[in-house]
Amino acid sequence: MFAFLETREPVEVAFTDRHAGGPGDVLDLAEPKPGDGPGARDVLEESIHVVAHALARGGDTAGEEPLDLPSGVAVPAVVRMRQVHAADVLTVDRTWLEDAPADPPEVDGLVTDLPGVALLVRAADCVPVLLADVERGVVGAAHAGRLGLVHGVVPGTVARMRELGAERIVAWVGPHVCGRCYEVPAAMREEVAAVVPESFAETSWGTPAVDVGSGILAQLRAEDVEVVDASSCTLEDEDLHSYRREGEAAGRIGGLVWVRP
Ligand SMILES: [Zn+2]
Repeated sequence: MFAFLETREPVEVAFTDRHAGGPGDVLDLAEPKPGDGPGARDVLEESIHVVAHALARGGDTAGEEPLDLPSGVAVPAVVRMRQVHAADVLTVDRTWLEDAPADPPEVDGLVTDLPGVALLVRAADCVPVLLADVERGVVGAAHAGRLGLVHGVVPGTVARMRELGAERIVAWVGPHVCGRCYEVPAAMREEVAAVVPESFAETSWGTPAVDVGSGILAQLRAEDVEVVDASSCTLEDEDLHSYRREGEAAGRIGGLVWVRP
């Protein structure tokens, strides 16, 4: 279920892979697609619920009893977003939570300073980034593909965390398609590199590419953020979901960050 887990008390971060608890069971955190039918949202919410419980148990997937918890262990309330490859960031505060809309907010970044709230970012080749100021208890999650890199969604999320009092920020860069696999037309490579030069890349077969991960690394370093590399290549690693490998039907992996209350 988890490709990566790290705890820096009281903050916990995790990236999921494509495997649910049971043998052959697929974990897919994608929003329902048109034509998925009326039960699709319930299936998604159940999957998120199972992941939240496993996170609460410190990563133990608990096999047959995915919703069992030791007494006194809190489950995070998971806030997700409808990602639109832009740079809007939402601050999740008590007021927003009280009348949270049924549909996820259309943003690509979330921040909060509320313990017990887990922020969820989803991706299948784009870069999921989790962020935290462990001392101040401020966390963030951002979704950055090629467009998010150009639009600066990650620096925007860092700025919003600083508004909540964050100072020493750590970022975990999750699984995404690597620069050796992400082939693009030459003109597109130029366009992105004009904004973020560090993204200029070449595929392993010698054609133009964009390295979104390296671009985000540069943006994070420019913001004086410590970076933890929690990535592997979604296209190359079949334990992960990949849009480039699987097309429209591709599922989504998730990144979650929360302050355990
Ligand atoms: Zn790759």
